[in-house]
Amino acid sequence: MATVDEIIAKVRSENRKILTEFESKELLQTIGISIPKQALVLASNGADEVIKTCDAIGYPLVMKLMSDKIVHKSDSGAVKLGIKDAAEARIAYDGLMAIECVDETKAISVQEMAPKPIAEIIIGSLQDPQFGATVMFGIGGVLVEVMKDVSFRIAPISDFDADEMLHEIKGFKILDGYRGNDKADFEAIKDTLKKVAQLAYDYPEIAEMDLNPLFTYKDGIVAVDGRIILKDE
Ligand code: ADP
Ligand code: MG
Repeated sequence: MATVDEIIAKVRSENRKILTEFESKELLQTIGISIPKQALVLASNGADEVIKTCDAIGYPLVMKLMSDKIVHKSDSGAVKLGIKDAAEARIAYDGLMAIECVDETKAISVQEMAPKPIAEIIIGSLQDPQFGATVMFGIGGVLVEVMKDVSFRIAPISDFDADEMLHEIKGFKILDGYRGNDKADFEAIKDTLKKVAQLAYDYPEIAEMDLNPLFTYKDGIVAVDGRIILKDE
């Protein structure tokens, strides 16, 4: 497995500062955050190569187009969920190839379809000009955008800080066994918060991280999307 430094060095060597989702999740996996099994295929390798990769990952799966030109993948039709077999994978591939984007290096990320979670959460980081590395936590979806229901701390954070961050959002109820649902794995959420905070603190070069969403379960948590942005050189 590549180290954090190796992943960053490769991105810099290509004169980029935005890691693709694939690279961002590879980096998260390096620091011990779970991600769905993933494989990358150059789109130019053609449908057969993509299908071979899909068969190796196993169905159901998700296909996404990785391109510098695409920021919000689902808005561009670049996320194909719930692909059940090779025939559906071929249709999804054609759909991704039809997306307008000027980028010869475009690649397809084939990934396991993570099971339905208890809730989707968001964890992020920023380098604040005054406070340095900071970490953010919130419930995914409309709650975070509309309600601004998030908690922040200066990194690195202790177990106590992580526990406060988890409990102080209004949406905590959603994670706490709302209407007979299972409770989310609080230890796994706190552990992920601490890891993201530590990474932001250790690497001031990482300007921004956006893990949106992470799927929470009774046991464990999985980052299904990630975006890491480096500072200008
Ligand atoms: P966007 O760039 O639009 O944020 P995402 O990668 O977050 O794209 O995908 C959109 C949504 O699709 C996610 O919020 C999540 O609900 C679902 N999703 C994405 N990847 C997976 C996956 N591997 N397994 C299950 N659901 C997924
Ligand atoms: Mg997302």
